[in-house]
Amino acid sequence: MKALVYHGPRKVSIDTVPDAKIEKATDVVIRLTTTNICGSDLHMYEGRTDVEKGKILGHENLGDVVEVGKAVDSIKKGDKVVLPFNIACGFCANCERGLTGFCLTCADPSVMPGMAGAAYGFAGMGPYSGGQAEYLRVPYADFNCLKLPDDAAEKENDYVMLSDIFPTGWHSTRLAGLKPGESILIYGAGPVGLMAALSAKIQGASQIFVVDHKADRLALAGKLGATPINSSNDDVSEQIRSLTNGLGADCGAECVGYQCSNSRGKEIPNMVMNALVDAVKATGTLGVVGVFIPQDPKAGDPLEKKGQLAFDFGKFWFKGQKMGTGQCNVKAYNRRLMQLIHHDKANPSFIISHELPLAQAPEAYKHFDNRDEGWTKVILHPQAA
Ligand SMILES: [Zn+2]
Ligand SMILES: [Zn+2]
Repeated sequence: MKALVYHGPRKVSIDTVPDAKIEKATDVVIRLTTTNICGSDLHMYEGRTDVEKGKILGHENLGDVVEVGKAVDSIKKGDKVVLPFNIACGFCANCERGLTGFCLTCADPSVMPGMAGAAYGFAGMGPYSGGQAEYLRVPYADFNCLKLPDDAAEKENDYVMLSDIFPTGWHSTRLAGLKPGESILIYGAGPVGLMAALSAKIQGASQIFVVDHKADRLALAGKLGATPINSSNDDVSEQIRSLTNGLGADCGAECVGYQCSNSRGKEIPNMVMNALVDAVKATGTLGVVGVFIPQDPKAGDPLEKKGQLAFDFGKFWFKGQKMGTGQCNVKAYNRRLMQLIHHDKANPSFIISHELPLAQAPEAYKHFDNRDEGWTKVILHPQAA
């Protein structure tokens, strides 16, 4: 089969690799019809993780079931399914509590002591291949496959966002404890930040502020009805306070991660976290879903090399703020968010800028990585010519 393979920093290509196959009786194999490139793929693409060469990338996957393992009950050949980027067993102590982003069964314990969580095609998240490919092996298929309703083909570009960014954006608002009528400050108008804005709108936020330094992304936030704030022109904290009676936003969402940079492209790893502490009110809560990693040996910043951050802990403590962090437990939300799409209450596909065949993925990585104007979200259709 054809797949997008990582060969080193900024080197990916479409290679012919062995077909995905059933390895355990609880697996299925799907034929991918849509698979996305994610901002978090770029950390690997840029060589800013320890992902091994030869890895097939891609964790935002949707397709048709073509092979079914003997122990699979509920999934049949021909079902159209979307997969959480998390791979989870459904029976460990964390999965039992709905924390499927921290599965103990599927995790790679060599990453660090107490490691939890697994994903398709991702650094440190187990040996699993990604779905930027023609076929994908899905472990624990009964648990991981979300079967789509009869409008699956028609709304495929919306449903594929259930694999990661829509639930992850939603998760940021839940970690932040957003309540109807409250204001939320969202840092990052990339795909996840825009999904956080969409989620906040659905949940009845009174004011949604979205901060970025990219005008094309901010324009999408504005279209959603959020207040776009351009961090290259404005003093964000001052502006937020002036719009919230001097108090700051009720809660905040971090949708950028450790590779955050200023408007001149310089990486400043603590910039967004400290900006949130400053602009969120005393007693407010932060939801941090941007990716941070335990180590980044190639980082310029000596703290960042060790996965550390110069965090304004004094101000955070003094303001009595709280914080929720970590990967989204996609299964905690995806079935309900699917109903929002099915009943036309949410259309996350609005962020798609490019729909391409798999063959053009290496080119797409280049543009997306350069943050080229207009390349907000790329989705790939591996079955297209
Ligand atoms: Zn993703
Ligand atoms: Zn588990």
